[in-house]
Amino acid sequence: MYDLHCHSHCSDGALAPTALVARAAERGVRVLAVSDHDSLQGLAEAGAAATQHGLTLVPAVEISCGWQKLEIHVVGLAVDPQHDGLRAGLAAQQQRRWARAEAISARLEEDGVAGVLTELKQRFPVAAPTRSHFAQLLVARGLVRDNDRAFARYLGRKGSSYVAAEWCSLAEGVGWIRAAGGVPVLAHPGRYGLSGSALDRLLDEFVAAGGQAMELSYPQLFPKEAQRLARSARARGLWASQGSDFHSPDQHWTELGKMPPQPPDVITVWQARPELFGLPSATLNKVDILNKDGNMAPDAQA
Ligand code: AMP
Ligand code: MN
Ligand code: MN
Ligand code: MN
Repeated sequence: MYDLHCHSHCSDGALAPTALVARAAERGVRVLAVSDHDSLQGLAEAGAAATQHGLTLVPAVEISCGWQKLEIHVVGLAVDPQHDGLRAGLAAQQQRRWARAEAISARLEEDGVAGVLTELKQRFPVAAPTRSHFAQLLVARGLVRDNDRAFARYLGRKGSSYVAAEWCSLAEGVGWIRAAGGVPVLAHPGRYGLSGSALDRLLDEFVAAGGQAMELSYPQLFPKEAQRLARSARARGLWASQGSDFHSPDQHWTELGKMPPQPPDVITVWQARPELFGLPSATLNKVDILNKDGNMAPDAQA
């Protein structure tokens, strides 16, 4: 079982990397990508835990990118965590996150909610603060009942303390991942509320920038929508990825290793690039990675 998207407490997940890996192993995951938001902080600990539990840890990251006033998430699978260019890019993203956190805290202060950033730094020693951290603090203070309401009232697009972030461009995010030897994956493509033509534009730009895969299996993605997305993927020679996007055991609707089956007739990232997932390259005959036009899928030659 492959779970190629999840979060530790190094971003907005609830579990330490060690506990996350242990939970994944218990649930039958054999290949796990830990993909914290704009941070590689948890990967060393996750790698050590994976060795103990006999599962393959794929070093990953989920980068927030700006695209036409939207926030698009790109997961970088099997990146080199030591790559200077990737590290510099993520350092810039983290600065943007701290600047936004200060602005959110100032907006909350105007609403009479004081000292949230100070509390955030004490409670969550993270390199990349997220709105999810703010949501948890607002819930803990009893100002809202749950994270959803924290987003609705304060932090979401229509919330009183909403601050837009200045993320890197889609091309930059994809470029950092490729430079670091990773596979750029468009995360949860059905969650951006895009029309068919807008999704086509996004995918065309993603491919032009060097994007290679998209998630075609994740919680709440239903078969009909998955098949529509799979057609768009096949038309562009994009490989299929999958992940639970697990954050916390408290979110009963997600679990490590839990996601729908892949739609039919897709080439998965681990079939296309077995060597990145702890599999011998000989696992796959090259013939299997031809795309619908009989051409090699992007970079399958490598
Ligand atoms: P950020 O990347 O800092 O903008 O934070 C976004 C994170 O907050 C996402 O990765 C989700 O984990 C979480 N999130 C976004 N929207 C909601 C929502 N409506 N309710 C609960 N959590 C949310
Ligand atoms: Mn998150
Ligand atoms: Mn995401
Ligand atoms: Mn995620």
